[in-house]
Amino acid sequence: MEYILVAGGAGFIGSHLCKALLDGGQPVLCVDNLITGDPKNIKSLGDRQEFVFLEHDITGPFAGLSSKLSGYRLSAIFHLASPASPNKLSRRSYINFPIETLLANSAGTYNLLKVADGEKAKFLYASTSEIYGDPLVSPQPENYFGNVNPNGLRSVYDEGKRFGEAMTFGFRRKFGVNARIVRIFNTYGPNMQEDDGRVVSNFIVQALSGGGITIYGDGSQTRSFCFVSDMIQGLTQAMFHEGTEGEVFNLGNPDERTVLELATMIKKMTGSNSQIVHEELPEGDPARRKPDITKAKRLLSWEPKVSLEQGLEKTIEYFKGSMKKLP
Ligand code: NAD
Ligand code: UDP
Repeated sequence: MEYILVAGGAGFIGSHLCKALLDGGQPVLCVDNLITGDPKNIKSLGDRQEFVFLEHDITGPFAGLSSKLSGYRLSAIFHLASPASPNKLSRRSYINFPIETLLANSAGTYNLLKVADGEKAKFLYASTSEIYGDPLVSPQPENYFGNVNPNGLRSVYDEGKRFGEAMTFGFRRKFGVNARIVRIFNTYGPNMQEDDGRVVSNFIVQALSGGGITIYGDGSQTRSFCFVSDMIQGLTQAMFHEGTEGEVFNLGNPDERTVLELATMIKKMTGSNSQIVHEELPEGDPARRKPDITKAKRLLSWEPKVSLEQGLEKTIEYFKGSMKKLP
């Protein structure tokens, strides 16, 4: 039997990917050290015969990973294993795991690429819109090289991902690994952690619990929010579509909104009495972010289908069910 390895499979996006692959009839090997993910995300997959969970840190010595994986034949590897929330108030944030984040995207990427090379497996590296930093060009196309502070607060993530991209194409050029890079733009949906700290989950949790909705800065900064089901479709197409080897794709929803607009929408959709409160804008917070997805449309025939309203509705329903205690 051939498996698809999902590194970071117990996380938010990874858990949806594991489920989608299993639903499509593919055996899945999920590798995760649970640093920011949660076993409850994959609990419902646990009794499926073709699902294997291995608790493991991909940044350890290669021999450890290699022996853990021995006996499994792999056809493809999705590398999603990295902390991803920039909110220093969250215990899951990459700001609180600076070295772990750098290593997940450097040593971790190296280890997984060595596995891909040995197995002759396809490889997909989950990069990020953050490699564009605080962009001077909008929307951001794949051939924009970005505006990144190499040692600012966010650099452990931004530069980690930039290194990961270079490593991925280094292995492709030197060893011919069948690799592609996907730059994920702000994605949200069920299975985000209540205490993740990213904006959509924070605003929904705050609105549902009646606490203040915390806008950092004046709320004029923009983001473009993609619902997770669209992202999973894009990730699988980027891995398995013909002609994706050696390509870089932006995946995200180009529907650009201000953070203030998002807060107002969530307050209205939840019927919340929460007040909007303004707090200090974190260092290095990008002012604009919007993907140019022309390339994904052309090569993958992919574009997001779920509107922000529809996606928020599903996410609000999820948090209503999953939040520990509502007042
Ligand atoms: P997440 O934190 O929910 O998932 C990441 C998973 O990786 C977690 O389960 C975590 O425990 C695991 N992990 C981290 N370091 C590991 C290690 N050393 N060994 C094994 N497992 C490890 O975050 P997410 O939002 O699902 O993000 C998944 C990937 O997508 C990340 O690489 C992230 O950088 C990228 N991404 C996400 C977004 C987004 O908006 N959600 C945007 C851009 C990029
Ligand atoms: N943000 C906010 N309040 C919060 C959390 C985030 O105003 O409680 C803002 C944050 O400053 C940023 C945007 O929302 O401008 C998106 O933040 P997120 O953490 O989701 O990810 P980013 O896109 O910055 O990586």
